[in-house]
Amino acid sequence: MAPTPPPPHVLIFPFPAQGHVNAMLKLTELLLPAGLNITFLISAKDHRSLSGYANIHTRLNSFPGFQFHVIQGLYEGPLDSAEKLTIMFDCMSEKTTLLLRKLILDSPVTTCVIADGIMDFVLDAVEGTGVPVFSFRTISGCAFWAYFSIPDLINSGELPFQGTNMDELIVNVKGMEGFLRRRDLPSFCRSGLSNRTLQQVSSISRRALDAHAIILNTFDDLEGRIVSHIQKHCSNIYTIGPLHAHLKSRSLNKSISSNSLFEEDKTCIGWLDQQPPKSVLYVSFGSIATLTRDQLMEFWYGLVNSKKRFLWVIRKDLVSKDDDKLPSELENGTKERGYLVGWAPQEDVLAHPALGAFLTHNGWNSTLESIVAGIPMVSWPFFADQQINSRFVEAVWKLGIDMKDTCDRTTVERIVNEVMEVRKDEFTESAKRMAKLAMESVSEGGTSYSNLDRLIQDIKTMGVQHEDE
Ligand code: UDP
Repeated sequence: MAPTPPPPHVLIFPFPAQGHVNAMLKLTELLLPAGLNITFLISAKDHRSLSGYANIHTRLNSFPGFQFHVIQGLYEGPLDSAEKLTIMFDCMSEKTTLLLRKLILDSPVTTCVIADGIMDFVLDAVEGTGVPVFSFRTISGCAFWAYFSIPDLINSGELPFQGTNMDELIVNVKGMEGFLRRRDLPSFCRSGLSNRTLQQVSSISRRALDAHAIILNTFDDLEGRIVSHIQKHCSNIYTIGPLHAHLKSRSLNKSISSNSLFEEDKTCIGWLDQQPPKSVLYVSFGSIATLTRDQLMEFWYGLVNSKKRFLWVIRKDLVSKDDDKLPSELENGTKERGYLVGWAPQEDVLAHPALGAFLTHNGWNSTLESIVAGIPMVSWPFFADQQINSRFVEAVWKLGIDMKDTCDRTTVERIVNEVMEVRKDEFTESAKRMAKLAMESVSEGGTSYSNLDRLIQDIKTMGVQHEDE
């Protein structure tokens, strides 16, 4: 009798930032029960953080085919700007290209690599090994498509912007004509064509076509129309999100799997327990965005003046310099109706009955988490993909109001009240409808559910082909 072939072995390789690691760990947890062996490449810093703050080892150690491969010597400084992300990117490229090749060539079988699509150097590292690379984009389909379309915007003269009218419509991102304005393009489009992030993001997005396939953390009812434009360039796309909901839908254990790189302050759940249903605005700008002291104050006045209850994540590095004393009216208003934490258990917070709305930077994970929880949004995008996500939140999905480029106290107060009071029923209804579609997509028979099965089957078939060679 022929010996049973070993299970397929997949290398999963995220960019070391909270949103990326989170999404790729969720994918890992979806693939492991299907019998795939997985090596997850992780920076030493993120490995320390996950070990300290998330129940990751308990969850993953039950799979004998799982292991972390910890990468030492990477940049460990803050990632709070495009420049610092570029430093990390360069460091990753320098330190991991050889390592990846070695891992593939040393290992008896590497069936495929699932690499963060932002790290196009993985395609070079793997070249000639015969191992296929799946490009996993942790951003939305609409942001990926806008990135992909940057050369078209340049060729048609829409980039760089001529003149200062940021509300002028953009016509060369197919499928977004009629509602996409200059201000909704990724933030780096606002600089000249020599901007390094613009050049890098544009070429990285096109390089996805060299990958075996693209995986997107989205679902067809949300972004199918945009994904169909990407499909004209790359026929093999797996839309398998929202991954966090997908994981919950497929696991017997329905509790939330935290992949936090920061210590969660769970006391906010006790505070939420004491608030009336749908009364609280949750405020968080994710793990990277920063505010100036002035912006912080404007948000704070806006929140207190709105008279709404609020739970606000103020990371210790959210504001670069924050040693000034808080004015007494803000201190009192916060004591009366607010609660501040350094880092929240976000998925639990969004699922709490006291939640009424989410003031968010529209990072893709936060956007999907809000959608699944059926929570309307007030959007204040910080950079990159967030500008386009927030436009979709308001103009396409009708899930909230996009406050981009302004956060003076009067606007914050007005828009918070608009979403939580004046147009509350309208937004709650559309958020509920979208949450239902999200859950259907990850339930048996749903599009994301079927696409994940197809991905697993395709990897297994690759494993068998490998054995036959
Ligand atoms: N998050 C969290 N607690 C917080 C703030 C954020 O757990 O207090 C999580 C959030 O649930 C999401 C991730 O951090 O999964 C942030 O990713 P996102 O893509 O939204 O934004 P980024 O941090 O990449 O800007």
